[in-house]
Amino acid sequence: MTGVSHSIVTFATLYVATHNVFIAGSAMLGSLFPDKSEGLFWQSAHRSCSHWFVLYVAALSFFWTPDVLSVTGVQMWQAGLIPMMRRFLFWFAAGGLFHILEDAICGPVPVLYPTKRMTVLPRLFKVGSVGECLFVIAYCAVLYLIAVKL
Ligand SMILES: [Zn+2]
Repeated sequence: MTGVSHSIVTFATLYVATHNVFIAGSAMLGSLFPDKSEGLFWQSAHRSCSHWFVLYVAALSFFWTPDVLSVTGVQMWQAGLIPMMRRFLFWFAAGGLFHILEDAICGPVPVLYPTKRMTVLPRLFKVGSVGECLFVIAYCAVLYLIAVKL
């Protein structure tokens, strides 16, 4: 997926699930991290270590707190800077996991080893294609219908 599609799908999913802009925004930024972190090595190391889910699961475990799922804006500001950063980094890592899942529906991603990519889900479209654009629109339409029913 392109960066724009990662941002839209991740933000929309987490906003519908949590109704929290902080969570959705943190995850949206995190969804850009796996590709952006490749930097100059993008050509030679695309979808390798930066796309290994184990790193993001480890980060989620490290930043987990019991109240991370029930955060309101008022609670965040009252808790202070460190707990707020911890929550940001938790949802940032969650966004990285969303990125990997989103990449898995349009190509191989590393699963068992960080440098060996495997096809784990059916390829639904090519990156940057009209199919990707239609997928994002359809996905958001489904999320809208789910949000209206809730
Ligand atoms: Zn990627």
